[in-house]
Amino acid sequence: MPEAPRLSVDWFDGRSARPRSVQAWIDGGRLHFDEHSVPLNRITWPERQRHGQRQILLPGGGLLSIDDAAAFDAWARASGRADSLVVRWQQSWRLAMLSLLLMLAGLAAGYRWGLPWAVDTAVDLTPVAAEQRLGEQVLAGLEGDWLRPSQLTTAQQQAWRDRWSRHLARAQAAGSTPLPGRYVIHIRDGGKSLGPNAFALPGGDIVITDELLTLLADEPDAVMTVLAHELGHVHHRHGLRLMLRAGAVGVVTSVIVGDFSALLAAAPAVLASNAYSRDNEREADQYGRSLARAAGADTSRMAVFFERLAKRHATVADNPLAIAISSHPADADRVRFFSTP
Ligand SMILES: [Zn+2]
Repeated sequence: MPEAPRLSVDWFDGRSARPRSVQAWIDGGRLHFDEHSVPLNRITWPERQRHGQRQILLPGGGLLSIDDAAAFDAWARASGRADSLVVRWQQSWRLAMLSLLLMLAGLAAGYRWGLPWAVDTAVDLTPVAAEQRLGEQVLAGLEGDWLRPSQLTTAQQQAWRDRWSRHLARAQAAGSTPLPGRYVIHIRDGGKSLGPNAFALPGGDIVITDELLTLLADEPDAVMTVLAHELGHVHHRHGLRLMLRAGAVGVVTSVIVGDFSALLAAAPAVLASNAYSRDNEREADQYGRSLARAAGADTSRMAVFFERLAKRHATVADNPLAIAISSHPADADRVRFFSTP
């Protein structure tokens, strides 16, 4: 009998946000990776997505991720898993119910809008409290591995916080777009791996690194615009949307049936390995620009931020935390957007 084909994947164990590179193969009705194996009927196979990444969700919150979709599809076919999605749907009434929902959505809006509709519906159905627990879970997963206590002095941190409060109060007074109901800004040492960065988690937790505040110490308006951009992600619940989209059907189902345990367990790994979509970034930029301007900040200073980041990227390895602001260098459009009156 020929040996089962193997695939190199990144394994997120569901507790830590750091992946390990392992080999995966299918044999005897089980998926094997590293020293572990899981029965095939307990894993969630990836949705077919147009772009890059494929992810296998493991029971208990881990996931296997691979950027090379073509390699994954070839491996899945060679392992006899081409029809897995349909087969799995038939095995579970919950998924069958959801497939019916998705079919209706598909009929109503066409295939292209089927999944976004399911995601939007699931976002609306997710209680704010559940979203906050997701964020807390992710933050706990990042602390230690990615984030350390801030090295800035208490006075320095307070000076930034005071500045933001003043800015946001000014924006509110100017009648800007409403602020998210809950947001908490955490200042952390991002170390070598995160460097100058900021990102927003589901439920309103926003992390800004010492390195970003140091890089932009003389550019408070750029810092304010970055913060406003992250508030935009919170306002639009992009973190939750990203998780639902990344987990696709399995996770959407967990929201619809009201069982958030799978969503909670998968949160750190999903958010560490998936980037916000371009549409979400554009929405956050839109919200951020108008909020920052209402606060009296000169958003064109973002050009300086992108310039300094680009200079750093020339010497520093690519950013592995996909939702972080510096993981996607700005294109000219974005710079222009923040500079357009
Ligand atoms: Zn963003």
